[in-house]
Amino acid sequence: MSPPPNQSPDPERSVARADGSVLPSISNAAARPSSPPIVLSIAGYDPSAGAGVLADLKTFAALGVYGMASITALTIQSTLGVRKVMGLDPGTVTETLECLAEDVCFDAIKVGMLGTEVVAASVIAWLEGQKGVPVVLDPVMKSSSGKDLLDSKGCEILRRAGLARADWITPNFAELAALTGEQVPTKREETEKIAQELHRMAADRGNPNLKIVVTGGHAKTPDDLLLVDGTFRWFPGEWVETRSTHGTGCTFSSALAAQIAWGDEAWDAVANAKSYVTGALRHAYPVGEGNGPLNHSWEKT
Ligand code: PLP
Repeated sequence: MSPPPNQSPDPERSVARADGSVLPSISNAAARPSSPPIVLSIAGYDPSAGAGVLADLKTFAALGVYGMASITALTIQSTLGVRKVMGLDPGTVTETLECLAEDVCFDAIKVGMLGTEVVAASVIAWLEGQKGVPVVLDPVMKSSSGKDLLDSKGCEILRRAGLARADWITPNFAELAALTGEQVPTKREETEKIAQELHRMAADRGNPNLKIVVTGGHAKTPDDLLLVDGTFRWFPGEWVETRSTHGTGCTFSSALAAQIAWGDEAWDAVANAKSYVTGALRHAYPVGEGNGPLNHSWEKT
């Protein structure tokens, strides 16, 4: 299959297909100045649309990129919490990803809830073929309401293959602790030390350029830590008094992927994603009886 007529092949970003052939790749952002970047979300389905792929697509639309979504798991949930999680068959997930990748090239990929070990393994194996496409991995493990969103063997896959393939990873404090086997950090110095440990784990898996954003959104001082090229930078956050916090992590990681797709450098990408999320929290309106969604289209209202 050759690239569409308005796009030119980019040898740096060729795509390996299941049958062993290589699809010449194109950069949407570079080759088609009139089209926005294309960003893919690989994540779970939340019917209340506060988290998962629906939140990601709203974020992508708000930030002006074209969003696509491949679902890894269905959940039954409302703003009151997650009742049930059903992982999709990994063959269906891989087939969806292959179908999309035969048609378009992604300018960034965000990976969120993976649900099960088998889906996690299939997704990461497929990502290995997406050479040169920036991958933002949000290592989703549990919902805020306490439900497991990834089985224990799936967490192990994130720790090995996930850390080896991701360009960015966006753990919150609890996820940072789970990935490294450390205690949940309570002080800045502890967070920095554990982030460094996570970076070492990625380097040991052949990925020394992993960029880490530890998201502190749940803390009273909601600052985020970026570790890039051996340098730490803290991004001061603003505490917003609201119950509308469902899907904050999903929204931040998809905003980060969108900013990266637009070509932001690391520090700008984090600053812009954080400022978008803060606005979406500040302008949120109540939905449902529990923890409602952010207002993803706050910049239009
Ligand atoms: N449901 C899905 C599909 C998710 O992807 C996530 C988080 O990534 C959640 C629920 C949990 O969101 P929260 O912890 O904000 O409740």
